[in-house]
Amino acid sequence: MQRNDLLKQLNNWLQPEIVQDYCPNGLQVEGNDQVGKVVTGVTASQALVDAAIEQGADTLLVHHGYFWKGEAEPVVGMKRKRLGALISANINLIAYHLPLDIHPEFGNNAQLLRLLGASEIESLGNVTPVGILQIGNFSAGLSGTELAKKLTVLLDRELVACVTSAHIITRVAVCTGGGQGFIEQALAAGADAFITGEVSEQTIHIARECGIQFFAAGHHATERYGVKALGEKIAAELGLTVAFIDIDNPA
Ligand SMILES: [Zn+2]
Repeated sequence: MQRNDLLKQLNNWLQPEIVQDYCPNGLQVEGNDQVGKVVTGVTASQALVDAAIEQGADTLLVHHGYFWKGEAEPVVGMKRKRLGALISANINLIAYHLPLDIHPEFGNNAQLLRLLGASEIESLGNVTPVGILQIGNFSAGLSGTELAKKLTVLLDRELVACVTSAHIITRVAVCTGGGQGFIEQALAAGADAFITGEVSEQTIHIARECGIQFFAAGHHATERYGVKALGEKIAAELGLTVAFIDIDNPA
């Protein structure tokens, strides 16, 4: 299909215009006008670009692209190498950041909650952008130790940090990636547990002193599932060949 038709469809699903973001959403680097083979992944690192080239992809679709607000602008060093590789191979780089965190169907938050088996998943309406903090129920309840184990098995890695207690968890809030700053909003929303990717020193104290169980499960690991789900939707609805490639990152 035409690249611009793919972009139209993606923008239609993800509605990037509804959020203010720290990077451009949509086409970041122009490649082939025709698309047929898409590689998806979390971050457009050199390793992922190289893997896309090796697979003969014409399009790379990621959650973490380039051109972040505040970064140095000159196209030198690492940036020059990544862009040079994409442009020489005529690969389109398409990135969706916040739109792919907050989406109610294939956003990172909704996907992680679903994979953990949470029900009645909803976005907290008083947190901006809406969808950045989502909450769901474990109607049968589970202990902190059980949730830690569930995350470890699902994400196939050890947790970065956790604070658990004997309290049974029935309501869990999620903000994937670097979302540790949302712990107090999770608490205010009545969550017994909060899952994110990263941890700060003060997050542990808040969890211990306010009685909310806390799980930092890895920025990369918690953000694999949005772009993966979007890729599956592209394959199913648009008939393109899509391969998700996981380049491991311990952070
Ligand atoms: Zn992220």
